[in-house]
Amino acid sequence: MSQVLVFTEFANGKLKKGSLELLSAARKSGLKIQALALGSGAKGLAAELGKEGVDEILALDDAKLDQYNPELFAEVVSGVLASKKPAVVLASSTMLARDLFPRVAAHLNVGIASDCTELEITSSGEVKARRPMYSGKVTVEVSFENSPTKIVLMRPNQLMVVAATAAKTPSVEDIAAPAKDLKTLVKEIVKGTSGKLDLTEASIIVSGGRGLKEASGFKLVEDLANVLGATAGASRAIVDAGWVPHTMQVGQT
Ligand SMILES: Cc1cc2nc3c(=O)[nH]c(=O)nc-3n(C[C@H](O)[C@H](O)[C@H](O)COP(=O)(O)OP(=O)(O)OC[C@H]3O[C@@H](n4cnc5c(N)ncnc54)[C@H](O)[C@@H]3O)c2cc1C
Repeated sequence: MSQVLVFTEFANGKLKKGSLELLSAARKSGLKIQALALGSGAKGLAAELGKEGVDEILALDDAKLDQYNPELFAEVVSGVLASKKPAVVLASSTMLARDLFPRVAAHLNVGIASDCTELEITSSGEVKARRPMYSGKVTVEVSFENSPTKIVLMRPNQLMVVAATAAKTPSVEDIAAPAKDLKTLVKEIVKGTSGKLDLTEASIIVSGGRGLKEASGFKLVEDLANVLGATAGASRAIVDAGWVPHTMQVGQT
């Protein structure tokens, strides 16, 4: 039977919303669902993944994968896909996935569609996806040819999260860390000071621009965002002016 493998992302022992969206889409296909979870606490997701209708968890519960190392992640994920041969791989189009999966696709010589906004998976494991092009001026329908595994990166907040009707008790398979010596070592990741959700994951964004007159005016945006539980965003004009960091910019560039 064809399988859909969902690359899960989680924080504080809970699946991120993007992963719940992917699992909802995977269930709709009626195919067997595998969940790949990497990093400390991966196995602790078993109960939540069971509730989401996952059949099999592939876990590498190792602190070495708590920080993203492109070389290590590409090695692990390519190895899993080569041995499990899922028909479809779903991941959220996050910064991590957009860096990781093109490497994996090249490694395995399979097709990838990134930044998709619509997704349909048939019961035979075929995929039809839609993605914007040319700054959203057109959208294209993407299908795959001669690609036994099809990798689809979905933009967060595009698919509905639907509650599963039946829970499962997934099997848990331990993935071995690659024995290969790595050429790169990630020593530290310095996170931004904001504890807020990333712009790509936020359901509500309060965005400000040049109309705020000066850098200190941006406090109004932050105050409103705090009241609404939103993430603050900014126009390119005020990012270029140095009022706020580039991570806050909304838009294509
Ligand atoms: C190739 C290209 C790519 C770009 N990509 C991006 C992108 O990814 N993201 C992005 O944000 N921009 C992008 N831009 C820039 C974009 O076109 C705009 O210039 C920019 O977003 C405008 O930002 P703003 O709203 O801060 O400023 P403005 O356009 O100057 O708007 C300020 C607004 O505030 C109003 N205002 C002024 N004073 C007051 C007041 N006292 N009370 C109430 N309202 C007031 C003004 O009437 C005006 O409507 C791109 C441009 C190009 C050419």
